[in-house]
Amino acid sequence: MRRIFTLLITFAVIISSMCCLNMIAYADYSIPSYLRIGLFYGSTAKTSVNLTSVNGFYIGKYSGTVFEEKKRTNLTELTITFSDDAITATNNGSVIYTATNLEDGLGIFPTVGGMERVLSIDGEKYRGGLDFKKINGKNVITNVVFMNNYLYGVISREMSPSWPKEALKAQAVCARNYAANNLGKHSEYGFDLCSSVCCQAYSGVRYETDNSYAPVDETSNQVLTYDGKLAQLYYCSSSGSRTEDVKNVWGNSVPYLVSVDNSYEDTANIPNGIWTGSITCDEATTIMRNKGYNVGQVTDIKVTEYSENGRVLKMEVTGTNGTKTFEREGCRTIFNTITKSQEFTVRGNGEAAQNVPTIRTTDGNSTSDMRVDEVVILTASGRSTLNALNLFATNGTYQQTYQITHSEATTNTGFLFEGTGWGHSVGMSQYGAKGMAEIGYDYIDILLHYFPGTNLENAY
Ligand SMILES: [Zn+2]
Repeated sequence: MRRIFTLLITFAVIISSMCCLNMIAYADYSIPSYLRIGLFYGSTAKTSVNLTSVNGFYIGKYSGTVFEEKKRTNLTELTITFSDDAITATNNGSVIYTATNLEDGLGIFPTVGGMERVLSIDGEKYRGGLDFKKINGKNVITNVVFMNNYLYGVISREMSPSWPKEALKAQAVCARNYAANNLGKHSEYGFDLCSSVCCQAYSGVRYETDNSYAPVDETSNQVLTYDGKLAQLYYCSSSGSRTEDVKNVWGNSVPYLVSVDNSYEDTANIPNGIWTGSITCDEATTIMRNKGYNVGQVTDIKVTEYSENGRVLKMEVTGTNGTKTFEREGCRTIFNTITKSQEFTVRGNGEAAQNVPTIRTTDGNSTSDMRVDEVVILTASGRSTLNALNLFATNGTYQQTYQITHSEATTNTGFLFEGTGWGHSVGMSQYGAKGMAEIGYDYIDILLHYFPGTNLENAY
């Protein structure tokens, strides 16, 4: 009896530890196996494209992500042409198939199996199939692609494949969550996500490298959840010393999109980690007018409030006709040709300059010149900074005066922006993830650091 009891306990321990190791989820969510990604539509719409496939094509139609075969051809090249009443597949001018039901459209699937299921459209390679439809009379070409194959393309565009694998795995989970959470974002065009940075940058096979596959495959079906639901994850290139609370960027609080330490990021030594940019009053005036803010000729730009993490919360743009106040992300996007993040200072070139005298100081070994307002002195109550506008030094015989003065303010003709970080600064910093991976953290550490309180689980 005792032995059976011991065995049972051992069994229970093994089962519970397996659960932890495998992160098996019993949540009631699932993620799709296939996605519809818009390639050509709206301003990029095409009337005719050339396709190639190594072994030929299945031709048929797509209902959502389900392909129904109507015809097979061994031809390796097809031209698909939209006309007013049909979508036609031809080869050297001979008609191979005509779809006259424009809502059903014309679907294409390459006949080579497995991972090699790649075709090219006007020379650009994509995995999966293509769907040609007319939606409200407009030509739309969609890539119907297996989720993980889509992610191969996304992580290769959104993060350098040469970066550490654990950072790429964190990126893969973020991109999967984003896709699963934004299905039907472009339903007016009949697809889920577009292929630009509006959703996630995706160029099919073009940027894939040997390092693109394992980060996706090894995290297959893994997602971050919060409170039993898929978490809405955001990431950007770099965020300076701290990421920002989402409420200071987009307005609403989200429990796992809060400000976290980002000291793993080597901000000073990465592209656009530290940036400056200037804009003339005339340029600012044009931008304001083009975006519908009629403040007249711009004369001043001032930050009036910063977040506790050093990002701009309120900024006033003043012109000859009035003042417009921008808030949160609006402070970054109004002059987004200059401002790469929401963490910046702005100074008009007519602003009064401060002239601070220096004083020769010594620590006993060497001497240096210091601004008088930064000299540290010992007082009866400890260390202190002079922090005074006037300083008098005397040797008993004569007195030297050090005084901070200001130059006369003049009219601004332009503004200088100086900032830190690249992007919206909410969620994962990609350079921060790289820094964490380089010192040995794994992708779960990275994700749980940037999205505190979430859980990594297997979706199905
Ligand atoms: Zn989009």
